[in-house]
This record gives sequence, C-alpha cells and structure tokens, in this order.
Amino acid sequence: MATATAADVDRAVAAARRAFEDGRWSRLAPAARKKVLHRIADRIEAEALALTVLGVRDNGTEISMALKAEAGSAAGTFRYYAEALDKVAGEVAPTAPDVLGLVHRTAVGVVGAIVPWNFPLMIGAWKLAPALAMGNSVVLKPAETASLSLLRLAEICSECGLPDGVLNVVTGPGAETGAALADHMDVDVMVFTGSGATGRRLLEASARSNLKRCYLELGGKSPNIVFADARDLDHAAKVTAMGIFRNSGQVCVAGSRLLVEASIHDAFVARVVAHAEALVVGDPLALSSQIGAVNSEAQLARNLAHVAQARAEGGEVQCGGLRILAETGGTYMAPTVITGVTAQASLFQREVFGPVLSVTPFDSEAEALQLANATDFGLAAGVWTQDLSRAHRCVAGIRAGVVHVNTYGGADNTVPLGGVGQSGNGHDKSLHALEKYIDQKVAWIQL
Ligand code: NAD
Repeated sequence: MATATAADVDRAVAAARRAFEDGRWSRLAPAARKKVLHRIADRIEAEALALTVLGVRDNGTEISMALKAEAGSAAGTFRYYAEALDKVAGEVAPTAPDVLGLVHRTAVGVVGAIVPWNFPLMIGAWKLAPALAMGNSVVLKPAETASLSLLRLAEICSECGLPDGVLNVVTGPGAETGAALADHMDVDVMVFTGSGATGRRLLEASARSNLKRCYLELGGKSPNIVFADARDLDHAAKVTAMGIFRNSGQVCVAGSRLLVEASIHDAFVARVVAHAEALVVGDPLALSSQIGAVNSEAQLARNLAHVAQARAEGGEVQCGGLRILAETGGTYMAPTVITGVTAQASLFQREVFGPVLSVTPFDSEAEALQLANATDFGLAAGVWTQDLSRAHRCVAGIRAGVVHVNTYGGADNTVPLGGVGQSGNGHDKSLHALEKYIDQKVAWIQL
C-alpha cells in the first residue's frame, strides 16, 4: 500500500475543491448526475465477483457473505441515491406576503471520508453515493488493510463519467494519511466509520482546525435478548450464532452480548454452542466456508487477549477461545462462547470486534432491559419473544439505533444505520443520510 503524505492529501483536497468550485459535477443537472451514478451501479454489478475477490483477498471475509454484503450492497446503494437525488427540493417558507423566503439545499463542498476494513466497499458506498449524489467532491481514505476494492471503485467511477477531481482516494495509515485529512483546513465535512478512539481524534482535529462537521459511526456491544417464550429456540440459537460469528465477528452491529432468561440458559447455550461448533471456518475464497479469516495478526492477538481477560474475570469458555488452522498460515479463530460474564466484566463492556459471544443470564424483563443498557454503546439489539407487548416495551426501552425483533441483523438501504451514545452520531443509508451532505441556504427577497 502506498502512503499518501500530508502533501499528497493536500493535493487531493485541492483537486476536490477545484472540481467543486468550477461546477463540473456540483452544477450538473441532477438528471445528469443520476445517469452517472446508475452507470456506476451497473458496472459494480457487472464486476461484482472481481470486486468482491479483491476485497476478500485484503480483509478475509468469507466470500459467501461478501458477494452480497460488498459488491451487491454497494451497487444497490449507488442505485438508491441515483434515484433519490432529484427528489431533494428546497422550500418556500411561509413568510409575510411582502417577502419571499427560499430555503435552498446546496452541496456542502469537499467531503472527507475515512472507512474501516471490515466491509470496505459497502461502507465506502454508504459515504460516497449520497455525497456524490448531492454534488459534493470527496477525498476518501480506505483502511490500510483493505484499500484495493475502493481503488478499483474509483477507477470505475472515472470510467463511468465522474469528472476528474470529484473523487480522490488517498491510501495510507490512519495516523499519517487519515490524520492529515482530519486536520485539513479545506475539508468541509468528515464522515467516518471505525473505532471510538479514532472518532475522538477526528472531533479533536475538527476543533483544532476548521470546525468541520464530523459524523461518526462507531462500534457497539450489542445485546441480543432471548426470553423463555421465544417461539423457536433452535432457530433463535442459529440466528444468534450467525449474528455474532459471520465475518469472524467483525461487524459493527454484531450481537456480541447474549442475554438469556435464566430458566432456559443452559439449554439455549448448548444450542448456540452446537451451532457455533458446526460452522465451517476456512479459506475466505472457498464458497463452502461459512466463516473466513480474522483481518490481521494484530486483530487476532487482540481477540485472544480478550478471551484471556474474560477467563481471568471468571468467564467460562464453552467453545472456541483459540486460534485454529494455524498450519495454513491464515489468521483463523474458532467461534467462541463464554458464559458467566457479569455486567462488570470487561467482555461485557468492551467491543472485541472478533468471534466472541459473551453470555449473561437474567430473571426478569426489567433486569434484561437494565443489562441491555448497561454499556456506553447503543448501536443494535435483538429481542426474541412471542409476547407482542413485551416486544414493543423492549423496542422502546433499549437504547440503540436498531432493535431487531425475532431476528438479528436484517438491513436495507431504506432504513438508517447508526447509533446513540458512544456508538456515534449521524446515520448512513436511507434518505436521512443525505442531510449530512447538504447545507441550507436562505434567500430572503423583499418583494
Ligand atoms: P479504526 O478507527 O482503527 O480505523 C478506521 C479508519 O480510521 C481506518 O481507515 C484508519 O486508517 C483510520 N484511522 C485510524 N487512526 C486514525 C487517525 N488518527 N486519524 C484519522 N484516521 C485514522 O477502526 P478499525 O479497527 O479499522 O475498524 C473497526 C471499528 O470500526 C470497530 O470499532 C467497529 O465497531 C467499527 N465499525 C463501525 C461501524 C458502524 O457503522 N457503526 C461499521 C463498521 C465498523
């Protein structure tokens, strides 16, 4: 991976600014922008396999999942915002009759986007498509371990008619390339997905530099609550296992904290363990693999350190907890279930971002809700029950951006994704995401 220096970032931002100011994209008719975004979606679809393989070779996600989650989702995102962009209109304000108050919605200018490695194409598209749809220019920094599919996407954008300078990709380490973008005086908006620690740095950089708006999508420690009255406990156990183990747990909304009613604790945990042990972990490029590799040696070492800490704090490893397939040279970790995790334990409080499920029993709905909300995060949650009233009470009572009921992890472009608390602010996806890339400008006209 090439490292873009601060000088390179400066050139990229200058190119983005020039493109924005001369209107080669920002002042195109919306219908013309729409055509380009549709062409990009078509090309992503046509090259879906190649793009997905590029990404999988970088990050180790199982290809069976990545095909849909990466290229499939990115194409859908470009198509969604292509269709949305000419439905965004300004307003005529209800002012006194001798005044015309117009509220224009204008592109913001230069958007800086910093994305992580777990789903580079999907998350990259969540930022790029709405930003470009609204006429902005973008400087994108992929994660250092997963740049390739986004570099190819930039080529595709150019081949599909996106004018030069409108999209710029700078690769390199966060502390150097990312920090230069965050500190830049000519970036108007920063959109970010990644860890809370980096999110904090971006806010500090904004305060130090030009007060750029910062939208952060951060991590989670999402509770998945299973009540004894759930309809099909085996199905719930299977979805619970996939809700934490797919992509080796490297999913921001992963259901990493299982809260299970005490009366079914042992039986339910046994089912989850059975599903976990049956999962086929292996070569990310083999369609038969249900779970691929952990992203890097460093990430694997962090995961194993979390397991050791959980053990030291009284947790019992029911399955997994170790590196597997080391003879292949790959970074694989066995799906891991740890019981006896108290609300004070670090495994309960801290995001692992690996295939590790913590299990905590509860005795009542009130206790389940109290445990669900007992972390600093608030990204996602799950509730399994046949009691409709209880389901609604839980949706209302859990502090999270999304609460899944009788499933875990469903998503669509039509609904926003984002969290509360230390899971971040601002949402990707849906029409709501467009607001991040728009400014309001008023024309006050005396008649
Ligand atoms: P990370 O914060 O280390 O890296 C994310 C990006 O930020 C990378 O491109 C990295 O190079 C860059 N970066 C790192 N330090 C930087 C700095 N000082 N200045 C500017 N940029 C910097 O996170 P990660 O480990 O790559 O990603 C995993 C995290 O992302 C997890 O916490 C996960 O929950 C979160 N995540 C959240 C969502 C969501 O939608 N909320 C989605 C996926 C991942």
